[in-house]
Amino acid sequence: MDSLWAGEKNIGGDLLLCNDKRDIRSLMAEVRDIYAVAEGIYELELLAPEVAAKAKPGQFLMIRPNKLGEPFLGRPMGIYDTNTEAGTITILFEVHGHGTELLAEVKKGDKLPLIAPLGNGFDVVGQPRRVMIVGGGIGIAPLYPLANALAEAGVDFEVVVGAQTADRLLAMDRLVRLGMPVHVYTDDGTMGKQGYPSVGVAERLAAEKFDQVFCCGPMPMMRGVAQICEAYGVPCQVSLEERMGCGFGICVGCVIDHKAADGTLSKKRVCYDGPVFDSKEVVWHG
Ligand SMILES: Cc1cc2nc3c(=O)[nH]c(=O)nc-3n(C[C@H](O)[C@H](O)[C@H](O)COP(=O)(O)OP(=O)(O)OC[C@H]3O[C@@H](n4cnc5c(N)ncnc54)[C@H](O)[C@@H]3O)c2cc1C
Repeated sequence: MDSLWAGEKNIGGDLLLCNDKRDIRSLMAEVRDIYAVAEGIYELELLAPEVAAKAKPGQFLMIRPNKLGEPFLGRPMGIYDTNTEAGTITILFEVHGHGTELLAEVKKGDKLPLIAPLGNGFDVVGQPRRVMIVGGGIGIAPLYPLANALAEAGVDFEVVVGAQTADRLLAMDRLVRLGMPVHVYTDDGTMGKQGYPSVGVAERLAAEKFDQVFCCGPMPMMRGVAQICEAYGVPCQVSLEERMGCGFGICVGCVIDHKAADGTLSKKRVCYDGPVFDSKEVVWHG
């Protein structure tokens, strides 16, 4: 078999252990632009027309910086924005370790191997009257396309965003442009209200009726938001982050404990069965 990372092809139906055939592409994407939006946080725009056309809100990709063949494994990144006319996709990433350090060093014109679109994405049920989007830190990345799609569909929504400090609030220009309320929380109070976004979720759920909540951010935040939603009887979907090897279900390196609605316990792969799960079906540890 050819390397997964070499040349453009559809790997969806051939490699997966499951019967459903997803249109997952392995391709080389040219870097169109890269710039810092905060200290250690970058937007990276890539030419990938098929991915731009197909990606659903909440899906992600596996990307390699392609420097001297390392890192060996790709790194998962949410698909933050798409431009179908230009054929581009954008990721928003924070430098954590070796892989993202190398990714921050790529230059315009570099060609990077990626596999996409991956995962299930968010599921907007029926025709909601009002929904809430909750993003903590870099967790806003997979949520912005959802906000954009809801705005295009004319769905009423509100956004609650949080960050450690004002300088690290992300996607604010994009979100404000959508014209819906954006409630801002910072840990140090340098912008918006002081506190965690979960405070805002509780306040808004107490004040108004919301049909669904969509959340991504640090695990403790998602767990807190899940508990608040459960208390208010509002369905909540969370986009989980686990370290993963392949990104499409083969290596089983990213399993979580899952509890189905009927109480059945099982393991689920964040990359393939997720990354988006009903918050009530996640077995929260710790
Ligand atoms: C589905 C999914 C979507 C993601 N989307 C984004 C995104 O849009 N933007 C973004 O900046 N990051 C995102 N992440 C996290 C990102 O993949 C990791 O930060 C990255 O893989 C770290 O690689 P590294 O080589 O720099 O760090 P490593 O050297 O591998 O690790 C350094 C530190 O980073 C943290 N880390 C590593 N992997 C993960 C992980 N999978 N999740 C959380 N923390 C991790 C750990 O604390 C680790 O100690 C996503 C993760 C998943 C699973």
